[in-house]
Amino acid sequence: MKILYVEDEIYMAKAVAQVLKKNNYSVDLAHDGESGLILATSDVYDIVILDIMLPKLDGISVLKEMRNKNITKPVILLTAKGEVEDKVRGLDSGADDYLAKPFQTEELMARLRALGRRKELVATNDTLIYGDIELNYNSLDLFANGHNFHLTLKESQLLELLIINKGRAISTQTIIEKLWGWDSDAEDSHVQVQIAFLRKKLSIISKKVKIKTIRGVGYMILESE
Ligand code: CA
Repeated sequence: MKILYVEDEIYMAKAVAQVLKKNNYSVDLAHDGESGLILATSDVYDIVILDIMLPKLDGISVLKEMRNKNITKPVILLTAKGEVEDKVRGLDSGADDYLAKPFQTEELMARLRALGRRKELVATNDTLIYGDIELNYNSLDLFANGHNFHLTLKESQLLELLIINKGRAISTQTIIEKLWGWDSDAEDSHVQVQIAFLRKKLSIISKKVKIKTIRGVGYMILESE
């Protein structure tokens, strides 16, 4: 997997690149937004890690330009601590994930693995398949066994999150952060409601896929034989 890392703090860029290389990623660095955008528009890279505060062209503008050019490859945005607005703007601009600086490299690795898995799971551009279900997370349609349901955005986001993290439990807190944002006042009960809606729809059209409650942790998607 080849990564483009756009970061103007050169010392940090090199340190992170070293860790990535140790973990068998190949990495190219760009140190400003303009050169980052040029590299990002090539088809060489699988994932782009994009700092927001960059000289010449900021990260959000780079991301918007990429999405305008129909470059759909996954982008992780790096936000400085507390820049909640940047995070929101980033997600609105089409970022797949975000990470607050300073971050642990283990955290970055986990995000990269998740996006890598997602890449493998993607059958067409915007479809995730798990068991007997198929989710189009752009049209928000859930298909199974010749039937379909139109999901709400939250249900689709929740199902996407569960499928991407298949094989492990995902915490209620993570679900809140992903669906409502870090700074929201959403509570566990909001998650329970969304899970209940999604379970109901799954139970009607899927013969295999279930959402299991992992007591004290959160939820996990499961496929029964
Ligand atoms: Ca920066």
